[in-house]
Amino acid sequence: MKKNFKQLSQKEIALFIHQLRQKPFRVKQIIHWIYGKLASSFNEMTDLPKELREELNKTAFISNLHLLQTRVSGDGTHKFLFELEDGETIESVLMPNTLGDGKFTLCISSQAGCAMGCAFCTTGKLGFKRNLKAYEIVDQVISVERSFLIPSPVAGGGKGEDDSQQKITNIVFMGMGEPLNNFNEVAEALWKITGLMGFSKRRITISTAGIIPKIYELAEKAPDINLAISLNATTDEIRNKIMPVNKKYPFKKLLKACKEFPLPPRRFITFEYVLIDGTNDTEEDAARLVKLLKGIRSKVNLIPYNPPLQEKSQVYRQPSENRILEFQKILHNAGITVLIRKSMGADISAACGQLKAAYSS
Ligand code: SAH
Ligand code: SF4
Repeated sequence: MKKNFKQLSQKEIALFIHQLRQKPFRVKQIIHWIYGKLASSFNEMTDLPKELREELNKTAFISNLHLLQTRVSGDGTHKFLFELEDGETIESVLMPNTLGDGKFTLCISSQAGCAMGCAFCTTGKLGFKRNLKAYEIVDQVISVERSFLIPSPVAGGGKGEDDSQQKITNIVFMGMGEPLNNFNEVAEALWKITGLMGFSKRRITISTAGIIPKIYELAEKAPDINLAISLNATTDEIRNKIMPVNKKYPFKKLLKACKEFPLPPRRFITFEYVLIDGTNDTEEDAARLVKLLKGIRSKVNLIPYNPPLQEKSQVYRQPSENRILEFQKILHNAGITVLIRKSMGADISAACGQLKAAYSS
């Protein structure tokens, strides 16, 4: 069977090249073509001898995600639905940092579906399908850069050689899935995205619903990666209801892990808090949140609940503008850095898992 080069480690590529009786420098050259210049076939690797390219074509290939659908929102958000080799689908969301500056944050998926079953989350409702392989995680970054940000990577000379071109500056694991439930593949993807593609660790964020033992492991095995916690409630009663993970990993222990997380200087842990009308949006919640975050260098992102476009029953609702601002004010007055994260791409269902749900219905 042909070997997928994106699935191979650096060592495995070296062995493969050695077996073809090629010089070792070809390894670096090929890796740079794949992760630096984002080549999607050996034919693009124009500085390899033609015979070598032909040989490689016979025995190996470079996988690419199959783009099923792109949706573009009025606010510049792009949402991509990708099909994997086994027919599962995942999504990635590209959000402009500031409209028109050509710099983007890419939100990527770590699993097809999710097993955590959060009540407000469309991915949670889809259930768990499978873990993504490291190369399927990395390929979301490569595919979006290649197909969207760099119109002609080969003709243009590749990534990073022209400062005026559009580029991804930040990567967040906030798409489908719970990244810390797919730890090994996520860790390998992180290594490829930073070590081979050249993204800075400080511009990558892993968001978790709170898999406590893996937070400790993340600190140990992937230091300098930013941590975001989806907190979403301030009492066990409410958190158990909307985030069943809380029964296994109660948020007070989660916050203890955050206190112990070895934060580099001037860095913060981000706490995401989806504001749901009548569920977790009272002044008491805000006051409790202030107390809970004492002793943690934190930033809070308030995310007004984003309903799926096709949802008819409306179990949950977004709080009123006033209530959202009130909540923010209480945190702000207590000295917490707090942002209201507009639901980017709300008109294209860009919250977690919603494009996939819309596509398959
Ligand atoms: N599983 C990880 C990362 C993916 S979810 C986690 O839970 O952190 C990414 C973020 O989307 C989480 O903060 C989650 O709380 C938020 N989210 C999920 N569904 C949402 C919705 N309908 N509206 C607004 N935010 C939502
Ligand atoms: Fe999974 Fe995160 Fe959605 Fe919860 S919020 S179901 S952990 S993707």
